[in-house]
Amino acid sequence: MNPDYQTLVDWDHRYLWHPFTQMQGFVQEELLIIARGEGVYVYDTDNRRYLDGVSSIWATVHGHNRPELNQAITAQLGKIAHSTLLGLGNIPAIQLAQRLAAITPSGLTKVFYSDSGSTAVEVALKLAYRYWQLRGEPQRRRFLKLAGAYHGDTLGAVAVGGIDIFHETFKDLLFPTYMAPATYCYRCPDREHCQQQCLTGLEELVAAHHQELAAIILEPVMQGAAGMIPQPPGYLARVRQVADRYEVLLIADEVATGFGRTGRMFACEHEDVTPDLLCLGKGLSGGYLPLAATLATDQIYQQFLGDYQKFKTFFHGHTYTGNPLAAAAALASLDLFESDQVLVKLADRIDYLTQRLAALADHPHIGDIRQRGFMVGLELVQDKARREPFPVARRTGHQVILAARKLGAILRPLGDVVVLMPPLSISQAELAELMDITSQAIDVATRE
Ligand SMILES: *Cc1c(COP(=O)(O)O)cnc(C)c1O
Repeated sequence: MNPDYQTLVDWDHRYLWHPFTQMQGFVQEELLIIARGEGVYVYDTDNRRYLDGVSSIWATVHGHNRPELNQAITAQLGKIAHSTLLGLGNIPAIQLAQRLAAITPSGLTKVFYSDSGSTAVEVALKLAYRYWQLRGEPQRRRFLKLAGAYHGDTLGAVAVGGIDIFHETFKDLLFPTYMAPATYCYRCPDREHCQQQCLTGLEELVAAHHQELAAIILEPVMQGAAGMIPQPPGYLARVRQVADRYEVLLIADEVATGFGRTGRMFACEHEDVTPDLLCLGKGLSGGYLPLAATLATDQIYQQFLGDYQKFKTFFHGHTYTGNPLAAAAALASLDLFESDQVLVKLADRIDYLTQRLAALADHPHIGDIRQRGFMVGLELVQDKARREPFPVARRTGHQVILAARKLGAILRPLGDVVVLMPPLSISQAELAELMDITSQAIDVATRE
């Protein structure tokens, strides 16, 4: 028997520290406790149903409680739950590496596992840094990032992040970086000019500092935590060209965009780009278990080869690296991509979502709508004509989430940007329900 709701609330408030949460206000609000999930819905302790509009933080791909994924994990559990990759192999981790090398942009041949998006980024940063040392160019030790970038919360990942409130607080602990301008700013009066400027800005930075640059890191096509900031078409391909011209490595962080989110399996496919290093997480295991991977080209891998006593070994690894249960879930998830024809079916859903979003364009408090596939940000504003935001203390984004909850959907905003990231398995009827609830919740929360 589970403890009753009130006991759970008491224990939560007494013992739990929630991530990215101001606990002072949190403990005053009614706590929603999720007990189970089914498809795109999650259910609370009173068996009330909510549509999971953000895929349990951008992770769930095929819905909750999918029999195929459950079965894959259970079957693996009957064999072994964990065995280390330090010096040993395990069956699902080997099979998954082969599959990932096959489906990611060609040229990425080696898979290095870890357990979160942040660690996938740490691995990429350390590989890039060490690669240049091994190549005899140790002065190439700096990273170029984009304003607004989010790559995770461990210190290396924060160092290459471009969101001030996360970054400034810890700045003494972070290594120095170069920062290229954001690709998009809703408040710019001339968006096209702004986008051109941001590309020029990046090119100038690379031209000026390439001798000390190890890599450029970015979230391809759409920056997530920045507030769903899209890049103009051609941007990614251009960055690849610039990186090539100056022989700088390109790290693509597809932790959020990977596994179908933008309508293609990987966002890099939109521009036919192969990065030198690719970071995967979130949807990799279908959103079931913590699993991440960093893929590298053979060129990078080869630099780390040598006689033992030369110590070219990549000295990095986590306890649960290549965990067999998580790898089994990931394999089953990739099978579902094929058997369910997820990407083929997704195209219609994306069109439908685009139509529904277009209907919100004239909303007096929706200043901007940004979409790439199944990644959406709706920017709330107090004054649409003047592009004026709501006062921060009003917590309008949060009010939308509370209103949506009453109406039967789970959302999670980024400040005053309402995010929609439903599971890829969502039906058109369910997507209609999500859009109905979202627009009603925005009406309720933006009313004066
Ligand atoms: C979520 C996210 C990360 C961090 O992943 P965690 O699993 O939360 O550590 C890194 N990069 C991007 C683009 C993300 O969206």
